[in-house]
Amino acid sequence: GGFYALGLSAKTVKSVVRKGYKVPTPIQRKAIPLLLDKRDVVAMARTGSGKTAAFLLPAIELLKEHSSIVGFRCLLLSPTRELAIQTMKFLKDFTKGRNLRIALIIGGDSMAEQFQSLHNNPDIVIATPGRLVHVIHEMNLKLSSVEILICDEADRLFEMGFAEQLRDICSKLPTERQTTLFSATLPKTVVEFARAGLKEPVLVRL
Ligand code: AMP
Repeated sequence: GGFYALGLSAKTVKSVVRKGYKVPTPIQRKAIPLLLDKRDVVAMARTGSGKTAAFLLPAIELLKEHSSIVGFRCLLLSPTRELAIQTMKFLKDFTKGRNLRIALIIGGDSMAEQFQSLHNNPDIVIATPGRLVHVIHEMNLKLSSVEILICDEADRLFEMGFAEQLRDICSKLPTERQTTLFSATLPKTVVEFARAGLKEPVLVRL
């Protein structure tokens, strides 16, 4: 069906069907093949467009299964803890039957539990920038194994005042990586961030 044609494997398509999706949304149709091709992407998409699956499914496909090599491979930044929690739920649904490990690093929750989840060698870390920077310094967390960076609601990341944290986080990431920005709007802050941190990004809009 529609999701197979985008280049997703049977295993991933099964997780999509289980969630009740039959046809990919326009943003999924455009973004998923580019992301599977490891391109950097700036996607203009709002909540309701199906953006979450558009960036999660290719990441899951590229990561495949748990890697015992130390260090997480995918970092997903969300502007708020609520969005991070919601994204975590999607990710859990889409990764059922895979042994991919996920850690959620958000403000307000116990630091001890978050340290523990990071010591469990996750494959994917979903984080809000403020808490992530705090944890990086507290436990000397290394970002040198990150292959995929996803910034969800990039415009809101800047509106929430995370410019400095984003710079700090990006300076610790390998330059050789895939970077994806999803944003409802493209203010100057986001455009400049994309210019500095993305390689030949493809702009996807509806
Ligand atoms: P999002 O824009 O990621 O917040 O998704 C908005 C809503 O659309 C969520 O409830 C998703 O589960 C749902 N959704 C995403 N993609 C599809 C699809 N291809 N078919 C049906 N529902 C979808």
